[in-house]
Amino acid sequence: MSHAGHAGAAGDSRHSDKSPRVANRAKPARLAEMSNFDIVNHYFDLAADRIDVPEDLRAVLRSAYREVQVQIPLRQADGKVHVYSGYRVQHNGARGPYKGGVRFHPEVDLDEVRALASLMTWKTAIVGVPFGGAKGGINCPVDDLSKAELQKITRSFMDKIEKVLGPTRDIPAPDVNTNAQVMAWMMDEYGKLHGHTPAIVTGKPISLGGSYGREAATGRGLIYLFREAAPALGLAPSESRVVIQGFGNVGGWAGRIVQGLGAKVIGVSDAHGAVHSEAGIACDELHEHLRAGGKLAEFRGVDVITADELIALECEVFIPAALGGMIHGANAESMNCRMILEGANSPTTPAADALLHDKGVTIVPDVLANAGGVVVSYFEWVQNLQHFRWDEREVNDKLGTIMRRSYREVSARASEQAVSLRIAAYELGIERVMEAAKARGYIEDGPEG
Ligand code: NAD
Repeated sequence: MSHAGHAGAAGDSRHSDKSPRVANRAKPARLAEMSNFDIVNHYFDLAADRIDVPEDLRAVLRSAYREVQVQIPLRQADGKVHVYSGYRVQHNGARGPYKGGVRFHPEVDLDEVRALASLMTWKTAIVGVPFGGAKGGINCPVDDLSKAELQKITRSFMDKIEKVLGPTRDIPAPDVNTNAQVMAWMMDEYGKLHGHTPAIVTGKPISLGGSYGREAATGRGLIYLFREAAPALGLAPSESRVVIQGFGNVGGWAGRIVQGLGAKVIGVSDAHGAVHSEAGIACDELHEHLRAGGKLAEFRGVDVITADELIALECEVFIPAALGGMIHGANAESMNCRMILEGANSPTTPAADALLHDKGVTIVPDVLANAGGVVVSYFEWVQNLQHFRWDEREVNDKLGTIMRRSYREVSARASEQAVSLRIAAYELGIERVMEAAKARGYIEDGPEG
C-alpha cells in the first residue's frame, strides 16, 4: 500500500474521490464461488490426499493454533462511535515464530484471515524461512478514514493483541492497505509497553530499522520467478506482454521491475478501474501519477476498459495482485495468457485452476510466487536481531537465490510427480511442517513407531 489514497500516503485529509467514476462498471466481482478459506482448504486437501496425511493430523494442520478477535471502537468525524473488529490468527508455529501481514479492508472477516494465515504456514515452509504462519486484519473502511483515524485504529489494535506477539512469538508485516507507516505505529505502540523492539514488525520505514529492498520484495520475487520459469515455456521476458490486476505495492513493483527487463505492461487495473495500451504503459510514471493523487483512467495514452476486458487481454503473463477469488469459473475461460504469476493471495478459485490447467496455462501459485515479501521480512528480522544493516544489493541477491532455489525444488517435484506447481508446492510445504511438528513431539508416529 505505498500509493496515494491509502494510510500514510495522503496526509490528514479524507479521501474524497470526485473524479469521473469508471469504478463500478470496471470493478471485478470477487469470491464468486468459494470463500478464501474453502479455496485454501481445497488445495490443501488435494495435496494431503496425495501424500497420505492421516485424517486426524489433517484436522490439526487445517485449524489454527490461536485466533484472537478484538473490538476496536472509534469516534469518527460524524460524531458517532463506529466499532470495528480486529483479528490475529496464528495458524501453525511448528517451524518458528508466527509470521504474516495485517490487512485493512471492509471485507476482512475471521474466515478470510484464517485462510490467509494457513497460506503463510505453507509459504514459509516452501521457501524455507524459519517461521510459522499467521495473518491479521481489521474490517475498517480505509478509504473513508483520515490518517489520524487510521493511526488510532492501528494503535488500539496493537494494544489489544500485543500479548500474543513478540519477536520470538509473532511478527506482523504489511498487506493490503497497510504500509511502512502502519508498521511504524505498530512498532511504536509495542515499544511503549516493552521498550524499543524493531524486530516486532517487518516492512518498517528504513529510518526505523526497515530493510532495504523490503517494499519491492514481493514484486521483485515474482519477477525472479518469471525469469526462472520463462525458458521452459519458450518465453523471453524482453518480448513478453504483461497484464497486472491491482497496481498497489505488489503489482506496482512487479510492473516496474518487469519493464526493466524489456517486457511491455499492456494492461493495469486498480480498485477504481482498468486501462489498456498495446504500446505499453510506463509503470514508473503511472506509479508517480497515482502517488500524486491521479486516477488510473486519467493516465496519458491509455484506453479505459472493463475489468472483464482486462482479464481477457491477450498477453504472455497475467499477474493478479489485488484480492482473493478474482479469477473464477465465470471469467477464467476468457483468459488469454501463457502464464499466471499469483502476486495476490488465493486469486484463483479451484474451478478456474482446473479450467486454466486444461487450457495449458502455467500457474505459478501464490504460496511460491509471492513469497518474496516474507523472505525479505525474514532478512529484516535477522538484521534487527543483529542490529546490523545489509545493503540493497545483498538483500536482492539473497532474495534471488532463495526464490530460484524454491522454484527449482517445486518444479522438479511437479515434473517427477506429474502434478501442477501448486500441488507440488503444497506437498513440500505440508511435509516440512509435519517434519518439524514431529521433531518437536507435537505429532506422534503411528503405532508402528
Ligand atoms: P495494496 O493495498 O498495496 O494494493 C492492492 C491493489 O489492489 C490496489 O491497487 C487496489 O486499488 C487494488 N484493488 C483492490 N480491489 C481491486 C479490484 N476489485 N480490482 C482491481 N484491483 C483492485 O496491497 P498489496 O500489498 O500490493 O497486496 C496485494 C495482494 O498481494 C494481496 O492479495 C496480498 O495479500 C498479496 N501479498 C502482498 C504481499 C506484500 O508484501 N505486500 C506479500 C504477499 C502477498
